Amino acid sequence: MNLLNAYREKDVIVRAGNVADLIALVGRISLKNMEAVELIGIPADIELLSQLDEHVEVDLVLQDGERELTRLEALRESGVAEDIQIVVPVAPGFGEAAKLACRLGYPVKLNIGALDLLDVEENLDLVNFYLHTPDLEEPLEFFHSFAQALFNEEALTMWDIMDENPAEVRYITDQGNEVLSRRLTHMPVTGDMSDFLDRRKLQLLRERGECSQCRFFVNCNGYFKLPNPEFSCDGVKRIFGTLKEAVKKLQEDVDKFYDEFEEGPEKG
Ligand code: SF4
Repeated sequence: MNLLNAYREKDVIVRAGNVADLIALVGRISLKNMEAVELIGIPADIELLSQLDEHVEVDLVLQDGERELTRLEALRESGVAEDIQIVVPVAPGFGEAAKLACRLGYPVKLNIGALDLLDVEENLDLVNFYLHTPDLEEPLEFFHSFAQALFNEEALTMWDIMDENPAEVRYITDQGNEVLSRRLTHMPVTGDMSDFLDRRKLQLLRERGECSQCRFFVNCNGYFKLPNPEFSCDGVKRIFGTLKEAVKKLQEDVDKFYDEFEEGPEKG
């Protein structure tokens, strides 16, 4: 938030630790360039959000999923901050926080950080929860957009879904350094990034490594090979595969529906 002056001409997502600071900020700068706000943790003054006159999208980034579960429930019951997305960092135990946020009716986004914390079984459990809980009304990202891209055969990538495509979005550290993304803070932005993904795809294909053989390459673009190119994607491909299988079944159902619709009602 302290670095805003340097980015007055850009569209920005502002990080704030409490709502009072945010309200003071909104009093000082125009909101027209503020795309969204990230509140880090559930601040003690969260109820002040209702004093924010201007509409601004709010991402609430959980810091300690388990400890914040009860606060999340209380938040929903209070009716404050209805229009927010809950961001759940992927770390051991994250699944319960994500499930509760989904059940409470919030849109949820997983925040992928260190890949050694990516528990595949917990992710698969969450994918299955998302696919097989019929009364969920809001998306759980990245699962939702990835499945939608498969269904529509779109070339939407994990970099876009996670808001990490450097052609569009940069992350500014608390020290003011412009880096590729929140999870890639050691990778500074250098030169023109508009074709970052094209260059990266070419490099991965030339290397003929795991990505070049991967059936999810079109929608992943090597997202999980940074920061560690040696990271094994066996687990990630199981997660993507579960989504793919669900999309295949959905496509079969849709095709069947249209076939029956075209044939018309059976005559008895
Ligand atoms: S899932 Fe892994 S192997 Fe497949 S494209 Fe993504 S990073 Fe590469």
